Formats: sequence, C-alpha cells, structure tokens
Amino acid sequence: MKIRPYTYLIFCFLFIGFFCKKEVTISDEEIIEQKVDSLLKLMTLEEKIGQMSQIRHFDTAADSLITSNYIGSIIHTEGLTPGKTALDWQNRFIALQKKALSTRLAIPLLIAVDAVHGQNTYNGATVFPHNVGLGATQNEQLIEQIAKITALESQATGFNWVFSPCVAIPFNEKWGRVYEAFSESTSLTEKLTKAAIKGLQADLKDAETVLATAKHFIGDGATDFGIEGGNTSLTAQQIERFLLPPYKTAVNENVGAVMASFNTVSDVSMHAHKALITDTLKIGMNFKGIVVSDWQGYSRFGKNDIINAGVDMVMAVNGNLEGYQKGLKEGVENKTVSLQRIDDAVKRILRQKFRLGLFKNPFPDTTLVHVVGKKEHREIAKQAVRESLVLLKNKDKVLPISKTTKKIVVVGEHANSAGLQSGGWTINWQGTKENYKGATTILDGIKNQTKAEVVYDSLATKNHFDADVAIIVVGETPYAEFFGDIGHESNQLALTLTAAHQQYIKTYQEQGVKTVVVLVSGRPLVVTNQIQKSDAFVAAWLPGSEGDGIAEVLFGDYNFLGKLPHSWPKSEEDFKHKYGPNFWDKTIEPLFPFGFGLTYETHNK
Ligand code: BGC
Repeated sequence: MKIRPYTYLIFCFLFIGFFCKKEVTISDEEIIEQKVDSLLKLMTLEEKIGQMSQIRHFDTAADSLITSNYIGSIIHTEGLTPGKTALDWQNRFIALQKKALSTRLAIPLLIAVDAVHGQNTYNGATVFPHNVGLGATQNEQLIEQIAKITALESQATGFNWVFSPCVAIPFNEKWGRVYEAFSESTSLTEKLTKAAIKGLQADLKDAETVLATAKHFIGDGATDFGIEGGNTSLTAQQIERFLLPPYKTAVNENVGAVMASFNTVSDVSMHAHKALITDTLKIGMNFKGIVVSDWQGYSRFGKNDIINAGVDMVMAVNGNLEGYQKGLKEGVENKTVSLQRIDDAVKRILRQKFRLGLFKNPFPDTTLVHVVGKKEHREIAKQAVRESLVLLKNKDKVLPISKTTKKIVVVGEHANSAGLQSGGWTINWQGTKENYKGATTILDGIKNQTKAEVVYDSLATKNHFDADVAIIVVGETPYAEFFGDIGHESNQLALTLTAAHQQYIKTYQEQGVKTVVVLVSGRPLVVTNQIQKSDAFVAAWLPGSEGDGIAEVLFGDYNFLGKLPHSWPKSEEDFKHKYGPNFWDKTIEPLFPFGFGLTYETHNK
C-alpha cells in the first residue's frame, strides 16, 4: 500500500499534538466572568438595583442604607470628611465595608473619591499640579509616577476608586474646567491619558492601586461658548476625530469606569444618549467597565432613560435613593427597563469588584497611612511643578535671577497662599484660599533660594522701588465646575487679570523695577499688555502643594521645560466666537501657538 505524502503529514501532526498536549487553561478574565455569572444568578432585583446605587458616606443613615438598600458604592467629594487622620478615614470606610460584607451575599463596596490632582480631599496629602500643568510637561513617565502616587495616597486614606483622569479636550477658555484637562491637543491628551490610567491601575489586585475613571463622556469641554453642561453642536465626525481618541486609549488600557457628562450633544442629554454610551462606547469600543452617572444624574437627566441609555451606576442618590430605587424597580416591573439591561449593569459593577480583588481583600492596608504626603511623593510633585512652567518672555535675560541679587520684592496674595496656588478640588470642592498642611508657598521657595533681602508687598502698596527685581504673582482665585465659567451669572470672572492685579504689575513697572510676572491660573488668560510691559513672564498654571518648585527654576537651578498645552489668546474678542480660536476659526492668530515655551538657551527680547 502506498502511503501518500499528506498521510505522513497527518501522522506528524498527531505525533506532535500528542507530545505537546497543552493543559487547557482559562484566563483570569474568564474566571472573573464565571464568578460574576454565578453571583448574578443569586441576586434579587432589589440587590441588583442596590449595586447600581452610590451614596455619600456621611448622609443620615448611610450605614444602615448599606444593608437595607444593598448599596454598591460610596463616594467622598465635598462636605464632611471621614475623620482627621488617614487612619480615621480608613476606619470609617472599613466600618462601612463591614456593613456591606454583612449583607446576604457579602458584596464589597467600591469606595470612590475625586482624587483629581493627588488625593486632594485629604488635608496633608501630596497635591500635584492640575492636569493643565501636567499637559505642559508633556512627560508621560512623570504622569505615570504621579498617578501611582495618587493611587497609593488614595488607598492609604481608604479608597479603591478615583474619579480621574478628566480627558476632556477644552475648546474654549471660557469653560470653567479647562484646568482639569491636559490640553487642547487630542494627541497629547491621548498620550497622557494612557500614562495616567497605567499609573492609577498599575496592578488592580495590589492594595496600592485603584480603579480609574475617564470623564466626562463626552463633549464636556466642547460645548458651544464653553458653558459647563451646555450643548455641543459638534457633528458625529468631529466628535469621533477630536474627542473620542482619549476614550479609546482609556478603554485599551482597561479603564475601570467612564463617567457620563452633564452636557448635551445636539440637544440630547449625554446621560440619556444611548447611541454614544451604548452603541459607541460599550459596543463599538468594547468597553467592559462601569458607566457611572455624574452628580445625581438620575433625577437630573431623565430617570430610567439614563439606565436604558447605558448608565450602570447612579452617583450620590442621597435624598433621592428611595425614588431612584423604586423608580427603577417599577421600570423593570412594567417592562420599560429590561432585566437584561439591569443584569448588564450589575455584571459590569461586579466585574470591577472582582478585578480589584475586593472579594478577597476588601479593606485598605493600614500600614499605608504613613505614605500620605511623604517626602518622596512631594519631590515628584515638585519636579512636576518645575517641568510645567512655561516661559513666555525673558527680555535681556532677566531670568534666571542671580542668587547674589541684593533686594527682591515679592508681590501679590498668590505668592503667599498654598490655597490660591492650587485651584479648585483642593481640600474643598471649590478649593481654599488658606494654606494647608504640608504645602510650601511660592514665597517660601523664593526665600529658600537666595540670601538677598526678600520683602513681601502683598498688595503692591509698600513702594519697595529700590528692589533689584520684583516677582509679581497674580492670577485666578480657586473655582471648580460651573463656578469657573466666564459669563456665568453668579460670578464676576473675566478672561483678564483683575484691575487690582493689573495695578500690582503697573506699580512696579512704572518705577522702572525689573518685573518678573508669574501667572497662577487654570487656563491661558488675556494678558497681552502685561506681557508686553514686563521683563519676564511665566505661566505657572496651578502648581499645587509644592510651590517652592517655582523658585528653583526662576533662580536657574533648573531650566524651563514646559510647553504650552493650549494656544494662547491675544484678545478677549477672540472668545466671542462659538468655539474660541483654537480649532475652528483659523483666521484668529494666537499670541503664542500650542507648544510654545522658551528656555534659558532661547530667550526673546
Ligand atoms: C463633577 C464630577 C465629579 C463629581 C463628584 C460632579 O459635579 O462633574 O467631575 O467627579 O461631581 O464629585
């Protein structure tokens, strides 16, 4: 009998197959999916809806609601803190976690915090520059390190989930949340989003990392006229091109959650936007994590419509918890919300709890409390401050300031206040004007750098006109969210410096003192005149707790490395346009383009 060549081949394959037989292994992900499915099968409708509810830790009866209403998650943002020390905070959350574990199915809680520039809700934590400053560093490795520290300090104060990074692409400086985003550049934002999520979620089962949240999906920074929660009239193609890429990056990095945005897209509320949340994000991009609503999203944006659109968990339903849970239950009973949708939501929540290892290890590591605000963390924060500084002008090399200079006058309230230099989301939701624990001010840093006589003239009234140089620190006062919108009825913000701050600069300029202006702001402001008249001008963004990093560059220990994360506006007139000058109206020339930044080697006249 003739044996044909292909018969040999078959024998060979069988032979190889027999000896190389591999054990059939199932991946961690498959194991998690099996666990999620088995747990889901045991759950009642009430328990499922409970998982989809997030409440604040301090509201009346929070403790008992966890057991009576099967709460799935806790949030800490503004308002009462869980205690004084990091251990107090941990203990409060451990107590709440124990409540959750005492329920029939012992499903642990996700415990979330707005750690948007470090664990900024804890007085004593390391507070990093806001994202706009990190955008100026363009340094991915640094952003990853910062994210790891943020995760660690968040875990150390009892959290396993953070509501960051904000991956918005701001189109108009009138928007009050420009500072929360990295840049107007989509590609830079993609790069830094990747680094941030990598750092925050470094190894999800490790008690030193947390679940990250990419927010706010989608169009938050691209509303017409820059209004927080306004409408964006971008087309689907523009959204795809400018706004979606960072979310794609986040999903590729396995981000645990995405937060829905307050704005509408073509007049459809984003919370109820099924096409974007379910079709684009969940199906199109294969996002397997949790879509969490923004603040009280259920009552604000269409109740069960938001669940049908794909929102899986409702944030801070306090005060309206009964209404939400009852309304959703009725929706399932009268079949306006499918059980399949509820199951999908709950699976997503349980999946992340398994990924975090919470069923095995639900409590924070008490030995971590000592890492909060530690020196090594502050060193990284200081590096970020230095690298974020953008030098816009340096006439006749007035910078670096010589260390043998005899007399320096420092002007402006912002020079001597850790709160003012840190912006919103620092200690309080709207920030603080006070110094806070462990922080150094810009003035502290200047005093450390030089043996010169340093005098402080907060309001520019003391006439130190004999000084060799005046360092004038001016800028915005802290704000968060809509309070920072320009044009919002309840505030007086403008895109320019206040008259008082303009006067500080003028006072010293008119007397012929060399002026170095340091601008502390969450966005580019219209300062064309002030730049023209000053000798040196530095955009310092919102540096956070390590204000002394600024002097290290002003006195030349380090070079300027920062590059503008936004093109810089020339006039207020530019902002009358729908989207501002950066994307749409190419006829408007910025004062400085995106990416601009001088160094000590390149200086202008
Ligand atoms: C903000 C979110 C934040 C949430 C919780 C909302 O008002 O838009 O960015 O995560 O509050 O504090």
